[in-house]
Amino acid sequence: MKLLIPGPVTTSPLVRAAMAQDLAPWDLEFRALNARVKQRLLAVAHGDPDTHATLALQGCGHFATEAALRTFVPPGGTILVPLTGSYAERMVRLAREAGRIAIELPVADGAHASPGSVAAALAANPAISHLGLVYSETSSGMIHDPAAIGAVVREAGRRMILDAVSAFGALPLDVSDHPELDAVVFTANKCLEGMPGMSFAVANIARLVASAGNAGSWSFDLSDIHAHTQRAGAGTFRFTPAAQVLASLDVALDLFDAEGGQAARLARYRANADTLHQGMIGLGLEPCLPLQAQGPIVLNVASPADAAWNLQRFVDALKARGFLISNFHNTAAPSFRVGCIGAVTPADMAGFVAAADAALREMGIRNRAPIRVAA
Ligand SMILES: *Cc1c(COP(=O)(O)O)cnc(C)c1O
Repeated sequence: MKLLIPGPVTTSPLVRAAMAQDLAPWDLEFRALNARVKQRLLAVAHGDPDTHATLALQGCGHFATEAALRTFVPPGGTILVPLTGSYAERMVRLAREAGRIAIELPVADGAHASPGSVAAALAANPAISHLGLVYSETSSGMIHDPAAIGAVVREAGRRMILDAVSAFGALPLDVSDHPELDAVVFTANKCLEGMPGMSFAVANIARLVASAGNAGSWSFDLSDIHAHTQRAGAGTFRFTPAAQVLASLDVALDLFDAEGGQAARLARYRANADTLHQGMIGLGLEPCLPLQAQGPIVLNVASPADAAWNLQRFVDALKARGFLISNFHNTAAPSFRVGCIGAVTPADMAGFVAAADAALREMGIRNRAPIRVAA
């Protein structure tokens, strides 16, 4: 079965096999493995160990985002979030539930978060200490620009938190180019092609030290994780980690290196997305974004207008053909979404296109033109 969803992704059999062992988190061999994984992740972010640290946190991506918000935005502090889609909305909710003030900056549908409007919003409100940006907005499939947005945040003397959960490892990021960045957050199970269960932040060490006591949560405190590591050693954990996930991530990083690192991974995902985009058009379906706006991570396709259309039936018909896609959509108009990330190739995407054609025929769908939602 190929998982064509934007995480958790299809993995290599080698990555899955690395899970099949019993591990003790305090064992010295495991500590060394964990320390190595964190150092390798730091290298993917181009972080210098003198200025940046990798923090490992049990759980999913939201947990790392919450931890970054609690750690770096002081209690009662204010963060500005460009509303790029549902992951930006989630950042807003996480901030508010942690007692921080979140200000939403509207972003038009199909538009990029604009450096000019970020600069204006920061200038208008000196209480805003942070800008929260989603690098790859997994709901729309659009990529936003941390270089351009980070530059205006820096210029305004504010700080940035970057949700790179569906970007890290595939889209370029060099934390040494971003002195305004407090933390970038990501997980093992998206573009790094590992298993779900561990999340990470690469964070600025000086800011981790200065932010001690902010979090208001022991579990979600990146400063405390850092302080613990300083005390107890590089590969240690405060609480039981998903050790098998870390062991398999080490193997996933071997495969990442063997492929040629971030640039090679991005090239494969881009080729996947392009194959899929063309293939969908070839079937008479309509991708939600034009190719030039379409990011390489996830592709949304408008639901066909035919009365026989039913997303769950389509998902089931694809599953019978070896492909699993999401049975929900994240766009305003009805759509289906296909992930372009994971251990999959353009040949898999071509196979998916053929399977989608067969599934539509089996469902008796003749009208493949998009549903037009009345305005
Ligand atoms: C997947 C994802 C997350 C985190 O999702 P979890 O289900 O908590 O792992 C956060 N942000 C973005 C942009 C994502 O794609």
